[in-house]
Amino acid sequence: MSTVNYSQFPLMRFVHWGPILSIIIYKCVTLTTLYFTEIWWPCYGSLGGFLNNTILLTLFFISFTCYLKCVIVGPGYLPLKWKPDLEEDQQYLQFCRICDGYKAPRVHHCHKCNRCVLRMDHHCPWLNTCVGHANHPYFVIFIIVSIIASIQSSILLLKTLVLVLAQYGHQILIYFPLNLTLLWITVFGLALCLTFTLSLLLYIQMKYVLKNSTTIEDWIIGKAISRREQDQSLPPFIFPYNLGRINNIKEFFAKGDGIHWKVRDECNVYDLTIEQLEQKLIKESWKKPMQVIKEYNGRWFPLVFGLCVCCQIPWTDEARMPLAVGDLVQVTRFHKYWMYGHKNLPDGSRLRGWFPKQCVTLFTKKDN
Ligand SMILES: [Zn+2]
Ligand SMILES: [Zn+2]
Repeated sequence: MSTVNYSQFPLMRFVHWGPILSIIIYKCVTLTTLYFTEIWWPCYGSLGGFLNNTILLTLFFISFTCYLKCVIVGPGYLPLKWKPDLEEDQQYLQFCRICDGYKAPRVHHCHKCNRCVLRMDHHCPWLNTCVGHANHPYFVIFIIVSIIASIQSSILLLKTLVLVLAQYGHQILIYFPLNLTLLWITVFGLALCLTFTLSLLLYIQMKYVLKNSTTIEDWIIGKAISRREQDQSLPPFIFPYNLGRINNIKEFFAKGDGIHWKVRDECNVYDLTIEQLEQKLIKESWKKPMQVIKEYNGRWFPLVFGLCVCCQIPWTDEARMPLAVGDLVQVTRFHKYWMYGHKNLPDGSRLRGWFPKQCVTLFTKKDN
């Protein structure tokens, strides 16, 4: 469980595999593209070559600056022990025991950052922080510019290959030994991967921007809709922050305080938090305590539980929770071979994480 308070040490976020690997990939794609392009389209050889290099470097500079801003600025955290101005509004809000305060509308507690995050979208391991109110615009600009830069890199690298293949049977002008071939394959693969994954991410993010929602809120909206499909006596749910596409884009880039948000005329500022409280009550009623019957040491690949468990681990960098026989666990999520939950520690705190499904069985009174 992370207990680092990143809000006080933003530069500490770079000491993690996500930002380190991101920066290495970044530098690798930029420098290799420039190196290969320089062979057949030198920067000082023609105006076209100069412009091509300038555009590529500018795109990488803008996207890299946005990336650094995302990490350093962070998502914006709700002050600890936060309370609404009016005491009677506390009944509409969830309470965060870790931050010892109420959660303002659109705020969610991130167990990685260990703080309540303003308008939290998701925790991004590549940034080693959350994407939220303060850095979400930088995140979207970063994705857009990175896609354009990756497409340009892919085209330039592909052109290099075409020129090398065209040399066969002619005088060799571009020397392409094995190490350069391997470098080309790696970087071209990375550029293509970045183009496809970032395009998919942009598509998802733009859907949220146009609706003025977030990844988490979209999940809450989905549950609100399915709740009403099952129980038609419930009043319809209207997402209060959807103000129309143009206003939604303006809101996305507006620098508000991250606590107070404009809502639709027919909605109340607490409509979403009231829906969340109702959903939480239903979730609590579903929760079943599980008893640990097999010890688990917290390893990511616990071979002792079989190959299926090791091959189908949950692909998230959320913690794994060591278990001892007899522990009681509250399960909140599950996959085919893994479960996610929490257990209470003797000091009153909670330990959360994933563990193999085989470790637990449903707790019944006679087990006690
Ligand atoms: Zn919190
Ligand atoms: Zn986070």
